Amino acid sequence: MQIQKHALTAATPGVSSELVSLHFGTPGSGEKVYIQASLHADEIPGMLVAHHLRQRFEALEGAGKLRGEIVLVPVANPLGLAQTLLHVPQGRFDFYTGENYNRYYPNFARQVGDAVEAALGADPVRNVALVRAALRAAVSAMPVDTDLASLRRTLYGMACDADVVLDLHCDTEAVLHLYTGTPLWPQAEALARHLGAALSLLATESGDAPFDEACSQVWWLLAERFAGRYPLPLACMSATIELRGFSDVGHGDAARDADAIVRYLASRGVIEQAPAELPPLLREPMPLAGSMPVHATHGGVLVFLRECGAELMRGEVIAEIIDPFSGQVTALEAPVDGLLYARDNRRFATAGMRVAKVAGREALRSGKLLSA
Ligand SMILES: [Zn+2]
Repeated sequence: MQIQKHALTAATPGVSSELVSLHFGTPGSGEKVYIQASLHADEIPGMLVAHHLRQRFEALEGAGKLRGEIVLVPVANPLGLAQTLLHVPQGRFDFYTGENYNRYYPNFARQVGDAVEAALGADPVRNVALVRAALRAAVSAMPVDTDLASLRRTLYGMACDADVVLDLHCDTEAVLHLYTGTPLWPQAEALARHLGAALSLLATESGDAPFDEACSQVWWLLAERFAGRYPLPLACMSATIELRGFSDVGHGDAARDADAIVRYLASRGVIEQAPAELPPLLREPMPLAGSMPVHATHGGVLVFLRECGAELMRGEVIAEIIDPFSGQVTALEAPVDGLLYARDNRRFATAGMRVAKVAGREALRSGKLLSA
């Protein structure tokens, strides 16, 4: 294992921070895998999974079982990790700009397409290499005037030429679920099955460019642009893995999740080990546009009547909002048939607050599909 340190641009003189990446295997000997944890810095389950992965990758490397390169960033957001307000960690939004740390990654599809068009040919392997080189060049030219921009450029720079990108997050309270690109499902299904994901949510455009989509979307945009002229595969399988809820930080789950990721990487040939039996898919993937928010209609005590993982019919009551002043009790109902896959972890709701998410089969929403 090699450890690399990446100094981030210091917005304030005298204040410095750095990213640490752990490197296993040999670049060029097989696929490149990039895994990062806790880009939303207060989402800790991924950090523990990264700790378990590090031990497994070290052992596999020592045993000569790696057939490729693995880059593991166990703490993807040291800036957010240092943000605390009144004892409460604040790792989702950058304090200075208010921006979500997992949004606004670059879309270089047009620029990279223009740069490589004249050089593309009939060999898909060579075409992929050309696109990756152009992506790396585009990343190195990204301006980094703030520490947030520096963080984004450094993370994206490590991931943009990878075959596999896994971004480890969690929800507030949730069952394990994935977000990935619709065209990637044939590559992502094995990951969902090994992880025992209760749900996979698919989109081609989630809105505001989250990290995983920025890594993979460029490939289907370029494949579309050059369709019928030059062969270009979907060369980056990226997914965001939501490792249940904020408080689900335990060695049992983390070890199982790490083992599942190892089995997935083995199925791609990055790790040499006897093929594991592929567990069943727990649920057909659903459109991200079919994930329906449930909002509080007024403020009050939030009492859930159903657990995450419940299969609901439209109109079934998920929770009650109780106004403690008036005694008014309002039932919040499932907006569609589907899976209650995430709930808020607060128990006092303000009017309009999104308190739960139900994944339905029909793509009913449009525009920006992710929560703030
Ligand atoms: Zn997150």
